[in-house]
Amino acid sequence: MLHHERLRPPSRDYPADEWNIIEKGFHPEFLAQLETMLALGNGYLGMRGCPEEGGPNAENSTLINGFYETRPIVYGEEAYGFAKTGQTICNVTDSKIIKLFVDDEPFWLPDAKLLSYDRRLNMKSGTLDREILWETPAGKQVLITSRRLVSFTDRHVAAISYRVTLLNAQAFVVISSEMAANGTSARIDAADPRQTRAFSGRVLHQRSSYSKDRRIVLCHATKKSRLILASATETALESVCPHTYKVVHTADFGQAAFTIDARPGCPIELSKYIVYHTSPTASAEELCGRVEWTMDRVTSHGFPQLLAAQEQYMNDFWRRSDVRVTDIREDRIKRTTVEIQQAIRFNLFHILQASARAEDAGVPAKGLTGQAYEGHYFWDTEIYLLAFLTYTSPRIARNLLNFRYRMLGQARARARELGHRGATFPWRTINGEEASAYYAAGTAQYHINADIMYALRKYMQATGDEQFLRDCGAEMLVETARLWLDLGFYSDAKGGKFCINAVTGPDEYNTVVNNNAYTNLMARENLRYAAQTVKSLRATEPDAYNALVHKTGLEPSEGEAWLRAAENMYVPYDENLKVIPQDDNFLDRERWDFRNTPSDRYPLLLFYHPLNIYRKQVIKQADVVLAMFLLGDTFPVEAKKRNFDFYDPLTTGDSSLSSCVEAIIAAQIGDMEKAFRYGMAALLMDLADVGGNVKDGCHIASMGGTWMMLTYGFGGMQDNGGRLSFWPRRAPQDNAILSFPVTYRGQMLEIEIGAETVKYTLRDGECLVIGHETEDVQLTREHPVAVRPVSQR
Ligand code: BGC
Repeated sequence: MLHHERLRPPSRDYPADEWNIIEKGFHPEFLAQLETMLALGNGYLGMRGCPEEGGPNAENSTLINGFYETRPIVYGEEAYGFAKTGQTICNVTDSKIIKLFVDDEPFWLPDAKLLSYDRRLNMKSGTLDREILWETPAGKQVLITSRRLVSFTDRHVAAISYRVTLLNAQAFVVISSEMAANGTSARIDAADPRQTRAFSGRVLHQRSSYSKDRRIVLCHATKKSRLILASATETALESVCPHTYKVVHTADFGQAAFTIDARPGCPIELSKYIVYHTSPTASAEELCGRVEWTMDRVTSHGFPQLLAAQEQYMNDFWRRSDVRVTDIREDRIKRTTVEIQQAIRFNLFHILQASARAEDAGVPAKGLTGQAYEGHYFWDTEIYLLAFLTYTSPRIARNLLNFRYRMLGQARARARELGHRGATFPWRTINGEEASAYYAAGTAQYHINADIMYALRKYMQATGDEQFLRDCGAEMLVETARLWLDLGFYSDAKGGKFCINAVTGPDEYNTVVNNNAYTNLMARENLRYAAQTVKSLRATEPDAYNALVHKTGLEPSEGEAWLRAAENMYVPYDENLKVIPQDDNFLDRERWDFRNTPSDRYPLLLFYHPLNIYRKQVIKQADVVLAMFLLGDTFPVEAKKRNFDFYDPLTTGDSSLSSCVEAIIAAQIGDMEKAFRYGMAALLMDLADVGGNVKDGCHIASMGGTWMMLTYGFGGMQDNGGRLSFWPRRAPQDNAILSFPVTYRGQMLEIEIGAETVKYTLRDGECLVIGHETEDVQLTREHPVAVRPVSQR
């Protein structure tokens, strides 16, 4: 059920475009939303879409993934094992500021007379472009053109090309290129638990600051997390107009101010290079050295080279990842093809920006587009993002799985603390320790352990990366399987079945329940996969098996115990309704009074005490329905239909992680009306501000979900059991064509689903066998295959 769609700003000023998110007028009331939507990032470094002039801003964040400060979590009533230390991503030095003064009048957007205004997130080039024609109070016309990028190829680097041209008069121009640390950034709303936490006092403490000609370096450290940050800027100016410059710096501030005697028609071209390095171990001196050598390289290459590399990177990305639609019938979904195409690319582009260079970190729930959820990593990555990354950029998927592996030591320690064997991955974290201050909707979400292993299996099936399984994956499998065996028990009350009690499933509106169906089903997969991996390593790779035994103390009998638990796993089922109850008590609860809940009381979590919610049949996000998607081959279509029909009216979609999943199951059961409705909600989650909180950052998980919705949902992709096949689902009366590439076992294939035929083309690789419905299709580069969907023959 969807309760609202907040519309985006007047469409006149936000025209749809396939490759750009365009803003044609300055609307202060949409400042915060646009900062999120037009944010740039590369997975390591992120900058919200704030104007260069240092304001106006709603939340002026520059974020580095994993750069955080800690604080004690204060509980009203303590209990053993509660997470003790909060981790919050913190704003780093804002280095993008370029202030402009014409005849000493500042250019300040809210006051400026704008003769024209065009700002766009350019998804083809990976840049934020702006062109403004400003008329000063004295009638001087100033053309300001800028281009900003956060580099994908040099992850420590951002750059801005800023050009000013006086059109109709001479003027004295000052351009002040600045950097500032410890400014205020995030807006805090204490009533919304999804937002970030504030630190009192300064977070960045000076280690050193200096300048060399037009290069300024500021180095800071956090006090408790003991991370070092070095930031540097260097600004170059080119113009035939006479100019001079002055550089100053203090502990938290740096400025290179250029004074130019500007002549009409003579462009003033400024290039600003920005470098950040961070480290938990390096000294301040070393980090300053690192920013300097990165800066030496970047400035010697110049902005055009950075831009060319960025465009090349984007080109490669779109070749591997672009999902295209053509000829969508407008009357059905009330959107044009261009709007849909724009929304698809917007989602994919932001996933890339959140993950591409997150090489020693995870993906925060908001990427690097805002500080909400404190920059924490959740299950969002494994369940919502990794399918897209695995099938389009497997290297990024591997990095993210490897990051989980690196926190295995802490996960083992956490398991001990909770009284378990094996490993317990944190529900939310930056540094590997549990940072959730609310165990009922945090630590109790044990399913994250199975989610990570689910993503590992998908990655393995799609890539065949046995090396990763041997080096990292198998060890995580052993420890998570041990956890499940320890957590559950054979219950006499349930006929000797293996039960798992006191856990919270994905749906955070029903917490600490017994036998959450999603958890049990996913744990079963985890146990089976662990047993099968250990068995096959033992049989075929004795060295790897011995290494695993050495690392984990694995006993030969453990695999059998895991299999036994898996085969006896209890999965609730209600004979009357013929549905899978979400947990043991779900059907006993009173139904939420939806009729008397006004639409402005959603999300419920902001208006009702948790207990009020927990004792009712009401769902925040897909839970059983999610399991039916992830473990698609376990359930026949009729079961999916019955469960979808049962849960759909109870599902609020208060979490953005819901609509995409509901759209997939709706498509799989042939309810195309709902598939389109939920699909559009997911696609427009951020562009149309469906949840009303895009100001706080992009919903990265939902963005990943849109790719799954298009490929698994409408494209009918299936990959259960390692066989890649397609059962395209589409409404026969539409003329739409849906096409997308998929990288599978190192080869890239393109699927094009039209009204009459489905075409499979091998773009990279020699030979690939995939499934089209029940048939095998053999592809070679020379021979694309076009077939009619069986359902239409
Ligand atoms: C959802 C979680 C999700 C988190 C971060 C919450 O609202 O319920 O499933 O992990 O947001 O996106």
